[in-house]
Amino acid sequence: MDNGFSLSVLIMLIISAACGMAAYDRAEKLNYTAAQTTLAILAGVLFNIIGLLVVYAVPVTNKGKLATGEMKPCPHCKEPIRSDAILCRYCQSKLD
Ligand SMILES: [Zn+2]
Repeated sequence: MDNGFSLSVLIMLIISAACGMAAYDRAEKLNYTAAQTTLAILAGVLFNIIGLLVVYAVPVTNKGKLATGEMKPCPHCKEPIRSDAILCRYCQSKLD
C-alpha cells in the first residue's frame, strides 16, 4: 500500500465516522429503537466503505492492465483491448 492509498483510507474512515454520527443523530431525532439506530449507523459507515471499494476497483481493471501491458488501446477506436487480441471487441477492426 502506498501513502496515497493509506491517506485515502484514512479520509474515508473519517467520512464514514461522520456519516455514522449523522445517522445516529437522525435516528435519535426520529426516535428509532436501539436496533434501528445501530442499523442506521452501520448503513452510514458501510456505504462509504463500499464507495471506497468501487472507486478503487474500477480504475484498476482498465488503467492497471494498460500499465502492466496486459491490455493496449485499440489503434482504430482507442478502447482498451487485450494485448494479444486479433480482433477489436469494440470496433471489430482486425489487428496484427
Ligand atoms: Zn477498436
